[in-house]
Amino acid sequence: MLSTMMLLGILFGLLTQAYTLPVKNSTGVHEGKVRLKRKYSDETPDWDEMNIMDKIMEVNNRLRAPRGMSFKEGDIASSYIRSAITCPGNTCLWPKSVDGFVYVPYIISPVYDDMDRITIETGMQDISSGTCIKFVPRTHEASFLDIQPRYGCWSFLGQTGGSQTLSLQTPGCMWSGVASHEFMHALGFVHEQSRSDRDHYITIIWKNIMPDYINNFRKHITNNLNSPYDYSSVMHYGRYAFSEDGGPTIIPKPDPYIPIGQRDGPSALDLHKINVLYDCGATE
Ligand SMILES: [Zn+2]
Repeated sequence: MLSTMMLLGILFGLLTQAYTLPVKNSTGVHEGKVRLKRKYSDETPDWDEMNIMDKIMEVNNRLRAPRGMSFKEGDIASSYIRSAITCPGNTCLWPKSVDGFVYVPYIISPVYDDMDRITIETGMQDISSGTCIKFVPRTHEASFLDIQPRYGCWSFLGQTGGSQTLSLQTPGCMWSGVASHEFMHALGFVHEQSRSDRDHYITIIWKNIMPDYINNFRKHITNNLNSPYDYSSVMHYGRYAFSEDGGPTIIPKPDPYIPIGQRDGPSALDLHKINVLYDCGATE
């Protein structure tokens, strides 16, 4: 009798433990919701149709920060030592060379195959062809990008000094636009909708945002470089970013139907902003 009671007790314990698990593991619940947001549209989700930030979030939604690091806004890495998400006084810019170009040295993991390398190099060229930024294989430079297929698509903001990892997972992040997006973070750009003046151009629908991700919609004190707000920036979140149950989290105004986000690569205004930030026209 006693042993039956004990057995029942153990069974009950196991059952309650099993039932409480999904509640305890709140990230697991949210992962389900992240996936659910794909169902907002009548069309079948199609990677080619997704904007770049949505692609990044699709890959990063289970991203956990390695020791000593955290991620902000889904894909901006920061170390605990250097946690600023903006770059005050342009202290994180890559230095400009006397010839007027800004050289960004990089090394690239040998794990990537030829197609991966072409994709990543296309992401670089889409920036360099319209600006004074030149991505160059590192020779001896002290500060450089270390491009690796770690878990997720992410970058630090601006130049951190020394070796800085920029992760482009393969195959998930193997889109040239995703690479350009992460390179723009490395050049010092935050997401377009976190601009200080964004409330003139978009409405954030706070009630539709997953509660744990509210912080991803904070405004930052940004240098907007006298450039117009750019709905089609490669740095813009998608309309349903971090949605709780499929409702929009960002609505353009006054016209709510303005397309937001970018599928291909840097917009003309993105390139313009790089040119202004790095003073690219100055020596021409
Ligand atoms: Zn980003």
